[in-house]
Amino acid sequence: MAKKLGKLKVMVVEDSKVAMKAISGYLDDIGVEPLFAENGRDAIELYRNERPDIILLDIILPDIDGYDVAKEVRKLQGKDDWTAIIFLSVMANDEDLARGIEAGGDDYLIKPVGRVVVQAKVRAMYRLVQMQRALVKMTEQLNNANQELHRLSMTDGLTGIANRRLFNEVLVREWRRCLRLKKPMSVVLMDVDFFKKYNDKYGHQAGDDCLKAVAREVANAAPRAGDLAARYGGEEFVLILGHTDEDGARWVANRIRQNVAALKMSHPDSHHGVVTVSCGVSSVMPGDDMSVERLLKSADNALYLAKSQGRNGVAYLNYGQGG
Ligand code: GH3
Ligand code: MG
Ligand code: MG
Ligand code: MG
Repeated sequence: MAKKLGKLKVMVVEDSKVAMKAISGYLDDIGVEPLFAENGRDAIELYRNERPDIILLDIILPDIDGYDVAKEVRKLQGKDDWTAIIFLSVMANDEDLARGIEAGGDDYLIKPVGRVVVQAKVRAMYRLVQMQRALVKMTEQLNNANQELHRLSMTDGLTGIANRRLFNEVLVREWRRCLRLKKPMSVVLMDVDFFKKYNDKYGHQAGDDCLKAVAREVANAAPRAGDLAARYGGEEFVLILGHTDEDGARWVANRIRQNVAALKMSHPDSHHGVVTVSCGVSSVMPGDDMSVERLLKSADNALYLAKSQGRNGVAYLNYGQGG
């Protein structure tokens, strides 16, 4: 007995009742109950609604011919659903076959076709359909994996916030956006105070937990679309504030400073008694003769100033100031 292909959806497009009946019988043997269309327009309509896996397509039909049906099917099909098209025709010239393949057919059988050939061809096409589906699925999985990889390559492994690489990208993007919109932008550089001593006292694991807690506070302060919180390296964090001037940036920096201190992470080796951060802030109205590097340098100089002023503080320098 022939192996059954029950799940398979086959559409037969055939205007001859006799041929239709014969093919129907062959398919029935392998457990396939086909859908039927007797003309081109019905076939296209049926294709639209049913999305069969395989179409057995007669070429000479009462309305539009099989070539046009095939072309229309190829136009309608999405990139995820592929249908195998097998032409059935009494036209036995090489040119007819070539035209069928050109129109989007996958195979071409010359009528009358017998049981063995129809069943074998349907089986072969079924294998192709399955392979095509597996390929689509694999491609989708690959795309998802790639997206995840991309996300990971932009994320800091310890804290889960953006890493330096993403920071560099967003900084340039935000600079260009503010330049275009003629809006100011700011950066805040933050550094945990006496963090080496914290590590020395509590160990590296506790140090890591501390960095995660600080990262959360930095991230919470950057909720807007033009903002980005990133780990700059080691125990340093950075905030990009698009569309934000000096007053706004100072305010945000001070809030982070307060919120970190309010976590009350004990740090006896700091004169503040708890873990604190120092913040360097710089703002600029981006111009063509200016650079993101210089803006960052100013924020870095401001951070140095905040450190020298006793830490747990916010210092501000204008673009280009401080060295
Ligand atoms: P300052 O107040 O001047 O910033 O002093 P500091 O001790 O914070 O600065 P320093 O640069 O001397 O030390 C930074 C320390 O941060 C040293 C390093 O071991 C630690 N550190 C950097 N990255 C990590 C990390 O991922 N995890 C942990 N636990 N420690 C880190
Ligand atoms: Mg016909
Ligand atoms: Mg540091
Ligand atoms: Mg430090």
